[in-house]
Amino acid sequence: MDIHEYQAKDLLTRFGVQVPRGGIAYSPEQAVYRASELSGERWVVKAQIHSGARGKAGGVRICSNEQEVADAAQWMLGRKLVTHQTGPQGKLVSRLYVEEATNIAQEIYLGFVMDRKLERVVVVASAQGGMEIEEISEQEPESIIRSVVDPAVGMQAFQAREIAFSLDLDPALIPQAVKTIMGCYRLMRDMDANMVEVNPMVVTKAGEIVALDAKVSFDDNALFRRPEISELRDKSQEDTRETFASDNGLNYIGLDGQIGCIVNGAGLAMATLDMIKMAGGEPANFLDVGGGASPDRVLMSFKAVLNDPKVEAILVNIFAGINRCDWVAEGVIRAMEELNLQIPVVVRLSGTNVEEGQKILAESSVNVIATDTLAEAADKVVGAWKDASLKEAS
Ligand code: GDP
Ligand code: MN
Repeated sequence: MDIHEYQAKDLLTRFGVQVPRGGIAYSPEQAVYRASELSGERWVVKAQIHSGARGKAGGVRICSNEQEVADAAQWMLGRKLVTHQTGPQGKLVSRLYVEEATNIAQEIYLGFVMDRKLERVVVVASAQGGMEIEEISEQEPESIIRSVVDPAVGMQAFQAREIAFSLDLDPALIPQAVKTIMGCYRLMRDMDANMVEVNPMVVTKAGEIVALDAKVSFDDNALFRRPEISELRDKSQEDTRETFASDNGLNYIGLDGQIGCIVNGAGLAMATLDMIKMAGGEPANFLDVGGGASPDRVLMSFKAVLNDPKVEAILVNIFAGINRCDWVAEGVIRAMEELNLQIPVVVRLSGTNVEEGQKILAESSVNVIATDTLAEAADKVVGAWKDASLKEAS
């Protein structure tokens, strides 16, 4: 789960990281009021969307008077800001963050990520901050510093100091840099984040270290024990298909194709996506219904898949162990009847109660295509989808 910059900064301050003073605004009038509250001579108006690279898209504006604050707010609010991270549809700006402007002497990149191969938290830093890490690794690869955290002892002050020294910081700034690095790490560990990125972490002209931007993502599987983090969720920034699925306890990831998938088990679901591609189709989603799926749950899965208007055919692939093929078959038929499905549906059942399941499908009046193997199922769903699109076209 992603959160907004202002929320990330609020969390960072609780771990001792210094951030600019600021306030949230939902209207140009509020933005101006926030600026007046902050005093100072310059302010930054920042669009709050779940995306980086807002600056280049006009979502970060430095203003020197109230009129400029009002104009920037007017321009941003209600706009779908398109950055190269949002996709062409962009993300709607409905909140702004107004900050006192910072006088920047140097921009530094600081990121904390999970390295899945090493099974460790890795700190990535560069004295060439401000650009995105992808750009840094293209343009200034030798500037990138990596440091692996030993999970048995966690991040130690000497390690943070080593990172700070490698960034060639003024020795007087080292204690503040260490405090910032340690604070980010503690936030990551104590709050079950799987990514913390401060880009840029700046050295100000007044000689302070400040987190000027902040991006934090949390491990969805740990949210149950972090109610104060769950409350920060902004569903309006998320893929509506994924929100519906997760609200209904389904493991769903939206993709770009036309073939909807309902599968049990993450591994089998991945294999199903591959098989659809090999058969010449494009999957619309990843969906794992899990074990012991009731007919209701199968019906809910159909609803989640059909929430995507691009879906033109559906493949149900169940290799039942804890699951029961007869329950799945009942769910498929209920879904096809209740949702009055007109698109091709291919069902491959295998494992527990498979005979009962196949019997239920064969005896029903709905038009479902039953198969025995995954390869056959993928071929059939792609074939049926192509036939249906040809018919549509003619
Ligand atoms: P992003 O584009 O979404 O990553 O948004 P950032 O918050 O990182 O802002 C983008 C860039 O705007 C930063 O890298 C800075 O160069 C600049 N910027 C942001 N806030 C300030 C500020 O207070 N003062 C100055 N001088 N520049 C700022
Ligand atoms: Mn940034």
